[in-house]
Amino acid sequence: MAPVRVRFAPSPTGPLHVGGLRTALYNYLLARQTGGVFILRIEDTDQKRYVEGAEAYIMEALDWCGISPDESPQNGGNYGPYRQSERRDIYAEYVKKLLANGTAYYAFDSEAELNDRREAEKAAGNHNFRYDASTRMSMRNSLSLKQGEVDELLANGTPYVVRFRINPGNTVNFSDTVREQVSFQTSELGDQVLMKADGLPTYHLANIVDDHLMEITHVIRGEEWLPSTALHVLLYRAFGWEDSMPVFAHLPLLLNPNGKGKLSKRDGAKFGFPVFPLRWEDKQKGEVAAGFREDGFLPEALVNFLAFLGWNPGTEQEIFSLEELVTAFDTARINKSGARFDIEKGQWLNQQYLIATSNAELAPLVQTEFSKNGLDLPLSKAEQIAGLLKERVHVIPEFFSKGSYFASPVTAYDEKTIRKKWKPDNRAKFDALANLLADHDDWTAGPIKAAVVDFMGENELGFGAVLPIIRVALSGSVQGPDAFDMLEAIGKETAVKRLRESYDMFTSVKEG
Ligand code: GLU
Repeated sequence: MAPVRVRFAPSPTGPLHVGGLRTALYNYLLARQTGGVFILRIEDTDQKRYVEGAEAYIMEALDWCGISPDESPQNGGNYGPYRQSERRDIYAEYVKKLLANGTAYYAFDSEAELNDRREAEKAAGNHNFRYDASTRMSMRNSLSLKQGEVDELLANGTPYVVRFRINPGNTVNFSDTVREQVSFQTSELGDQVLMKADGLPTYHLANIVDDHLMEITHVIRGEEWLPSTALHVLLYRAFGWEDSMPVFAHLPLLLNPNGKGKLSKRDGAKFGFPVFPLRWEDKQKGEVAAGFREDGFLPEALVNFLAFLGWNPGTEQEIFSLEELVTAFDTARINKSGARFDIEKGQWLNQQYLIATSNAELAPLVQTEFSKNGLDLPLSKAEQIAGLLKERVHVIPEFFSKGSYFASPVTAYDEKTIRKKWKPDNRAKFDALANLLADHDDWTAGPIKAAVVDFMGENELGFGAVLPIIRVALSGSVQGPDAFDMLEAIGKETAVKRLRESYDMFTSVKEG
């Protein structure tokens, strides 16, 4: 069997949506699993939709996820160029073959003529004018005009498009790994444009020619391309390439978190989560779209999350490294039905990856989060915070939002707890506690705890009376890591100061 060659073929029309990233991932997994080749091809023949920076964004997103292509515009390869805009001559050559064998024809109708015709049809009650077998002979093309006229139009340099000649009344059958047997009627298809007046191919022509020349064995792409596949099959036939046609696998849609409707850019904004791997700034529109990377997800977690949107291993295992996915992935287990974009699952997965990452590895990420918020943390402290909080956060920015008190004064206090737990009568005892801690030498959680427990015994105070007070004084809230770990991490001097400075405020809250 020919070695597996798969391609991810995005159009650089903006940032890469997570759905596109999932397509890239599935292609990558199949390539790695079979010892095949993963290709990135940039489909940039639609000049009107071209967006500056989109190609660089796509590459960066793939690199960040650890699924970089083997052959690409950047890396090159033996099947280049890998940007369709650089393959113009190739398409021109192949379109000639279709013109020569009669499966394509020249159409000279100008935009204005086409519009007039559409309007006339509308006036006559036909709102769905289509250029196809039933109308082509009444249009200006190389099938309806005499050869002499065609030659003259071509010699004059009259603008033309090349259209695919589709015969109605046939059924196109093809098999799809996900959808099994698929069939379309040729009468549903019009005479599609293959080559535009600017000499550039349309998506369909370029896609087929490239998949053939690049020896693509499997086409794995989103479900929205399923209807086009009928046309693609006809194109393979027209070229005489049907025997080397790739295997098709059309991936299910990504649905919004309600499970109702396609996941859109707007859903991200509405539900407050990213739908793009990296942050994207649209300079023209002045808009910014959030990215998983900037929102504090680890790429391994995003990859794991995306892998499960449309596929599952059929076992209980939920955490998969990229290498494990390479082994477990199976195109036969791709689902037909849409996959709900359950962001909470994504957050949970990210937390699992944070927990599994060593504190030392997390330290620089924590340090960066604090420095974004204007606080310099030594790495050792960042490492300590990572260890104390990683089971309590889902995304990296939460190390700061839930742990700022480790490095800066408390700004808000849980007044409800203060009212409930602070007994002004115990003031002297809590002053003694602060003094005891100030004199305590071994500033690590275990010995601190031993000293506090002794103190509680001597003063007839239980954990329930003391710990909430310590916690609120240190962090503002009763949530968070173990109180003695917190004391250790905040440091003796600051911890004692926060205790001493809280008592008056606690009393006034209580009495206020
Ligand atoms: N350029 C198409 C896209 O943007 C590629 C579809 C395909 O993979 O054939 O998704």
